[in-house]
Amino acid sequence: MRAAKIKTLLETSEVNQNCAVHGWVKTFRANRFIALNDGSSLKNLQCVVDFEKLDDVLLKRITTGAALHLEGVLVESQGGGQKVELQVETIHILGDSDPDKYPIQPKKHSLEFLREKAHLRVRTTTFAAVMRVRSALSFAVHRFFQQQGFYYVNTPIITGSDAEGAGEMFRVSTLDLNNPPRTKEGALDFKKDFFGKETNLTVSGQLEAESYALGLGEVYTFGPTFRAENSNTTRHLAEFWMIEPEMAFYDLNDNMDLAEKFITSVLKEVLENCKEDLEFLDERLAKEDQSKPQAERSPMGLIEKIKFVIENDFKRVSYTEAYEILRNSKPNKKKKFQFPIHEWGVDLQSEHERFLVEKHFNCPVILFDYPADIKAFYMRRNGDEKTVRAMDILFPGIGEIVGGSQREERLDVLEKRIQEMDIDAEELWWYLDLRRFGSVPHSGFGLGFERLVQFTTGMNNIRDVIPFPRTPQNAAF
Ligand code: ATP
Ligand code: MN
Repeated sequence: MRAAKIKTLLETSEVNQNCAVHGWVKTFRANRFIALNDGSSLKNLQCVVDFEKLDDVLLKRITTGAALHLEGVLVESQGGGQKVELQVETIHILGDSDPDKYPIQPKKHSLEFLREKAHLRVRTTTFAAVMRVRSALSFAVHRFFQQQGFYYVNTPIITGSDAEGAGEMFRVSTLDLNNPPRTKEGALDFKKDFFGKETNLTVSGQLEAESYALGLGEVYTFGPTFRAENSNTTRHLAEFWMIEPEMAFYDLNDNMDLAEKFITSVLKEVLENCKEDLEFLDERLAKEDQSKPQAERSPMGLIEKIKFVIENDFKRVSYTEAYEILRNSKPNKKKKFQFPIHEWGVDLQSEHERFLVEKHFNCPVILFDYPADIKAFYMRRNGDEKTVRAMDILFPGIGEIVGGSQREERLDVLEKRIQEMDIDAEELWWYLDLRRFGSVPHSGFGLGFERLVQFTTGMNNIRDVIPFPRTPQNAAF
């Protein structure tokens, strides 16, 4: 018999039907009750076996972690915990498990411990819930953009440009590290490398997405990006997924409107479609919070926080206004910031971003019009000659979730900036071409997908929202 999904059986009203299920044993109690999970639902299906009819050898093989195929009759449950249960008639052991060695025991494991068992951690309730929400979020991302008429473009993962300007890169090379070819001058000879030039893993698909926006109108990328920055934080990965919409004929305000609508739309969709998982994660977070000192506890529950973001407008504040707020703030005056705010033009650190979002405004904040000197070369210059049309979205507990800008569409201004910043203009010939042939105002942003998953699931560490995290000194699995 073909196995039904446990989720479907748990929701059905058709009892007394013959059915089959398969999945992994979570627990086996009293030689009688198997809690079986197939990943389709947070809840397990209770499967009741008649141990008197089973031989002892088979019974012993039903252990936590074993994979089973069960057939029987779905009946109304006698016990209180569930509506239906399976009265088991036949048992096939698909895969045995050694109960003494299986690391995922039916008890609470620390997230740190589970990171070392990343190949098995999705069998825990928490990780299965996080990964189902992650999947729903990525579908919601595509649905949102497709419904808005955006085209999905796949920008290259191996890039020949080192001017993407968003951090340290990982080299891609097939040269023999032990005996690399050298030029007459003794430098590495990349002409002999696979692509005949230096290549790296991309840190952003933006520049290529711009080229596509200036032809298809509105496009988005959703792919992996790589940064070799040595930042061991709870918000940085060396390999992460980024969503980068890029839109022709959009100014910065259109860009901010889109970003806000995008985030609230996907959150709304997931709130509707992942109710059970989010309720579980909400409770998990509440329990975790209880073990923290009062001052560190979150003022809102997980679902409450998501609803708050959906229902309230993001606060839009210019860098200059934010700078004034920070300069005059209590922690700045009392010298509580590690990086004190003195002069206009400083880059904001996460302690400043957190102050603005979590203490001052108490809601998501969009900061815009940043000093040119702390932002990338491609951002559009304002008339004041000091600031650029950049915008960052800051979220409670996460910090920066989106970074974007209106792009500089004026060839002369862009060329001047490239020169000032000592960037190799030759490499950017094709990017400059976009300003030579039918240039138009255009804008875009990048949203770090894992940071969105972190916010939605309430997981504190970014390593716990991606299946196999890559971080400095760690590429296990
Ligand atoms: P941060 O200041 O947090 O390091 P950034 O300014 O370097 O981020 P951008 O280049 O603006 O980041 O990238 C766009 C988005 O990608 C960020 O807003 C963030 O959501 C996400 N992001 C950036 N770096 C990482 C990373 N190392 N791991 C996960 N997400 C990241
Ligand atoms: Mn940024």
